[in-house]
Amino acid sequence: MTEVIRLSVARTLDRCTVLGPGTRAVLWVQGCPLRCRGCVAAETLPFEGGTDRTVPELADWLCGLPDVEGVTLSGGEPFSQAAGLAALLDAVRARRPDFSAMAYSGLRYEALRRGGADRRALLRRLDLLVDGPYVAALHGSLRWRGSSNQRLVALTDRYPDLRSEPDTGAGIEVSVEPGGALSWAGVPPTPGFRAGLEAHLAERGFVLHTQARRDT
Ligand code: SF4
Repeated sequence: MTEVIRLSVARTLDRCTVLGPGTRAVLWVQGCPLRCRGCVAAETLPFEGGTDRTVPELADWLCGLPDVEGVTLSGGEPFSQAAGLAALLDAVRARRPDFSAMAYSGLRYEALRRGGADRRALLRRLDLLVDGPYVAALHGSLRWRGSSNQRLVALTDRYPDLRSEPDTGAGIEVSVEPGGALSWAGVPPTPGFRAGLEAHLAERGFVLHTQARRDT
């Protein structure tokens, strides 16, 4: 019997234009071994508490999103679930060969390359990687990254124009989810942005979903 590969997922988003090129789905995994000071995604750090999802059901989800060009893998630490995410990208590309893939990692690219077969397998399936831990003292308004030590690494030639485009923040997107809850995605433009936004909305009677992203 074939084993069904499972992932622990913190959150999914069908459509996002601020965490990678074009319009993308986003998958936030649950669990990160790092503890960057100022991490905006504290609720995704414990390895417990995620939603158990199978690779086939996540592949169905991604393949059923006709207006997205790819997926961004965030978290949490995607490379802590590297084998499952590599299997997911294979399953999606079996049906949509041009589906692009970008991932975040708190580890540096060089460390990921040395980090074992599963991590290298995931790297081989990515078009783009944002690497390195978030460092609050180096916070900037940067394209898809929280701090200036983090690099945007092109692993394929899928996005050749990236080097010539301005390296400025892509902004924040707020979504209304089924049931009316608000959530947001994106790289905060300033340190402490999340707490400020939540306080601002709370004053007006709104409660924001706790899952967020990313590296600030
Ligand atoms: S910023 Fe990223 S790598 Fe650092 S603790 Fe948060 S999720 Fe982990």
